[in-house]
Amino acid sequence: MNPQPLKTISFKQDERNVFFHILTACNLSCTHCYINFEQHGKEPVSRDTMEEWLALFHEPKKETNLILLGGEPTMHPDLAHGIKTAKKIGYHSVTVDTNGFLFHDLLDNIAPSDAVLSFSLDGPSAEINDPIRGSGVFSTCTTNLRRAVNMGFKASLIYTVSRQNINYLHLMPELLHQMGVSRFFIQVIGLRGRSASTHESKLQLTPEEWLAVIPETARKTADLGIHVIFPKVFLDKDEVFECSGNVAENYFIFPNGRVYLCPLCEDFPVNAFRIENNRLIKNTGLVEKNFFSLNIPEGCVMNKLLQPGNLSYDETGRPVHRISCCLLKQEIRGNSTPNSNYSAKQPGDRPLF
Ligand code: SF4
Ligand code: SF4
Repeated sequence: MNPQPLKTISFKQDERNVFFHILTACNLSCTHCYINFEQHGKEPVSRDTMEEWLALFHEPKKETNLILLGGEPTMHPDLAHGIKTAKKIGYHSVTVDTNGFLFHDLLDNIAPSDAVLSFSLDGPSAEINDPIRGSGVFSTCTTNLRRAVNMGFKASLIYTVSRQNINYLHLMPELLHQMGVSRFFIQVIGLRGRSASTHESKLQLTPEEWLAVIPETARKTADLGIHVIFPKVFLDKDEVFECSGNVAENYFIFPNGRVYLCPLCEDFPVNAFRIENNRLIKNTGLVEKNFFSLNIPEGCVMNKLLQPGNLSYDETGRPVHRISCCLLKQEIRGNSTPNSNYSAKQPGDRPLF
């Protein structure tokens, strides 16, 4: 089966993507975890707040996609209620990003048509996955994923690539095929949170490593009929740079009421909006929006500020690669991949590049 060509997913103005972190707690402690209690608090949103904020961010004139995240969102006792509320309000699609533990019997409390379940796994076996995500996680995650698929749920899988697991990525397509996964989301390790403060240089990939492995694995996965999505990261010479903060509508909501437009800004108090008394308030002063219009030869400004290790320069001082917006994705579909109605713009298990 020949897959369709690799394609960049352009930003769409007629769609809104709402990334709602309903809590920051998690039962795991992955080595690349992005949770930041200092910036986003430790309190989950209440059931009432969940309902109110879901209504606040739904835009009936646009295709509004909801991605429910944490921490581990299935630890929230009202997750199933939130999913059903979102469907009732009219969200076009609902995706739950889970580490696979599926607390509170999620599969028995929602229907397959209510949400897509997006599982995270960082290796094709316990030997590779568990040193990154925790002992016993591979077994629990794959068991629950298979159960979900058997019950008729649509499942996707996120693999966060780093130096620790890039050499095993080629073993994923077969495993995904066996488990009945319909979409594979390849993510790249970020340089934030715990990964930034500890062993960043050991985890981060070079552009050459990324380009040598990821597109090829994506093609092999698509050969099996699986829809593959991965970040663009490096813009081609003739591609135009666009900041999604200027041309798309993505909201990253945290339980303490902070609302960001750019996921790279989430570790700083530069959120463009905040929610107060169930109203979306525009912040003033130094906020992320101030950075979005800066035009630099390196592409994304926040990448240059926060992750300059991604950049290299030629002898004339010009950047060798321009870095795309972290929300710009590429996709490749196998010929049998159905057109899905869920958002292709989720940051997944987070760190973007
Ligand atoms: S990366 Fe996700 S699953 Fe892992 S500890 Fe952080 S929130 Fe939990
Ligand atoms: S990652 Fe860069 S380009 Fe994308 S929204 Fe943030 S600042 Fe803009």
